[in-house]
Amino acid sequence: MWDHIEIVFWLLGKSDNRMEEVDIAFVEGSVSTKEEEDLAREIREKAKMVVTIGACANSGGIQALRNFMKQKEFLSVYPNPRFIESLERSVPVGEIIKVDYEIWGCPVNPSILENFINSYLHNKKPSIPDFPLCMECKIKGNICVIDAYGIPCLGPVVRAGCGAICPSFKRGCYGCFGPCKNPNIDALILWFKNMGLGEEEIKRMFENENAYSPEFKRIVEGLK
Ligand code: SF4
Ligand code: SF4
Repeated sequence: MWDHIEIVFWLLGKSDNRMEEVDIAFVEGSVSTKEEEDLAREIREKAKMVVTIGACANSGGIQALRNFMKQKEFLSVYPNPRFIESLERSVPVGEIIKVDYEIWGCPVNPSILENFINSYLHNKKPSIPDFPLCMECKIKGNICVIDAYGIPCLGPVVRAGCGAICPSFKRGCYGCFGPCKNPNIDALILWFKNMGLGEEEIKRMFENENAYSPEFKRIVEGLK
């Protein structure tokens, strides 16, 4: 596969980078500054296909947690905040430019990325998991941590792709792969309430690296 690929721009991976027209641009990271906004637009102009990878690029990431507060409250911790220039909000790349495909995860699963590239090279539609993590967890034969141990788990509303790592080690999923397609979050919240969790505890479960995804944002903003 790698014989058919040329990486022309990867700041962290190589020194001779060329910003030129490409077939695919894999974009990591959220858009937090004007420079990043301009770069995203330039990438869109030069790439036939844009694929966002990771929680930051797809939902804003940890840095998007500041969107739930006023920027001034954060700036006050710096001795010279006048040197800090950032946009009012840190946003997913898809808020700035059109994105063709999203590969989720924090970090992404390399085999999903590899499958994507392979599909492209073979002119096939890529298959990216968008179903709930519970399906992957059951395929693995895990015992459900909610049912067996009363441990809260976001698996029913989180996207598969990691291999159900956390439930495999008797831990609840905390959502690093972001929301699955059409998640029934209200039903899960009801379940959590029946388990005895309070609203604040439930809200905190969604305050993760994907908190700014539209599906989780609604919960973080106050269980509306
Ligand atoms: S442990 Fe979590 S991911 Fe696995 S089946 Fe139960 S709720 Fe779903
Ligand atoms: S189980 Fe959930 S939190 Fe754990 S790695 Fe997978 S998606 Fe991330």
